[in-house]
Amino acid sequence: MSFLKNDFKDNILTYQEIKQLSFLSKDEISYIETNFNLERIAATKFYLKLAESGEKSHLRKQFVPSREELKILEYEKTDPLCEKIFSKSDRIIHRYHDRLLFIATNSCALYCRHCFRRYLDKTIIKDADKTDIKILTDYLKANKCIREVLVSGGDPLVLDNDFIEYLCKSIRDVSKDIVVRIGTRVPVVLPSRINNNLVNILSKYRPLYIFTQFNHSDEITEINSESVNLITKSGIPVFNQTVLLRGINNSEKQLKELFYKLVSISVKPHYFFQGDLAAGTSHFRTNLMQGLEIMEKLKTEMSALSLPLLAVDLPEAGGKIILDRNSIIKRENGFFHLKNSDGKIFKYPDEN
Ligand SMILES: *Cc1c(COP(=O)(O)O)cnc(C)c1O
Ligand code: SF4
Repeated sequence: MSFLKNDFKDNILTYQEIKQLSFLSKDEISYIETNFNLERIAATKFYLKLAESGEKSHLRKQFVPSREELKILEYEKTDPLCEKIFSKSDRIIHRYHDRLLFIATNSCALYCRHCFRRYLDKTIIKDADKTDIKILTDYLKANKCIREVLVSGGDPLVLDNDFIEYLCKSIRDVSKDIVVRIGTRVPVVLPSRINNNLVNILSKYRPLYIFTQFNHSDEITEINSESVNLITKSGIPVFNQTVLLRGINNSEKQLKELFYKLVSISVKPHYFFQGDLAAGTSHFRTNLMQGLEIMEKLKTEMSALSLPLLAVDLPEAGGKIILDRNSIIKRENGFFHLKNSDGKIFKYPDEN
């Protein structure tokens, strides 16, 4: 209903449109159509083009389903972070004391194959509306401990400007101090969406931060840099969260290039996530030690500004932790025993 209209929507390709562009092989079409939810396959013209130019299988893999997704391991879950336990409404997840997550939509401009929010499409079908925002603002008024609202999804920036403005204004009307943090891949996959109209709206409701997800240095082109530039020029800081993805960015060289490139466009690398235990994503995950070892190496060479925090979401509702050697209590029988922020121990698989 409030999904992006007109020109932007034309830039988002459905599965059928991707297929018509002869982007997929016969073999891909056959296993995709027998096994996958075609509604959760989409890409943008911009990203498709980027993935087509040169040897860019690392970009292609981020939105073209792989046969490997059909392999689901016993410890992989549809809700790996156990967000349901902390749900205060369909859309509010209050997991940590001073901040909550608001799910504004379940749509994205491009569906990342590594995404852990896959279970969303069954539980939440519609985009948020004014009633949902009323529930959110009532919750904020009743829970003064909340200092930060993470607006996520899905990708909130696929919603139209009027709705985005209504959402930001409603939060701002509750308190002038509440931080609005928007998680979005739009600057990466649909940079034309970041225009003056949108930026003018967002910059009215600071403190507001944009958290984007660049996963590979090839995703940072002149066009993306320009879209980020529009945001930062308006006084909105941009942070990045990279997901560690096997076969895409799991090398010291690539990550170094990515983090340097991010700071060069005024984006602070903030998080670097170990892959979640989401169903059918094991081919993207690396062993927990790989991220740790890469970060240890990069720490000897790079400034703190250029380095993100290595984080992992623990299974069984253990929450997010910053991973370092001290988080690992022991390693035995195929599992790491990791300590969360409450000092409790959670098991995380010790994968190939
Ligand atoms: C990650 C996350 C947050 C934000 O926590 P930070 O430590 O600030 O990154 C808030 N709520 C939920 C449910 C989260 O998963
Ligand atoms: S844009 Fe975000 S929510 Fe959407 S598929 Fe990618 S990681 Fe998941």
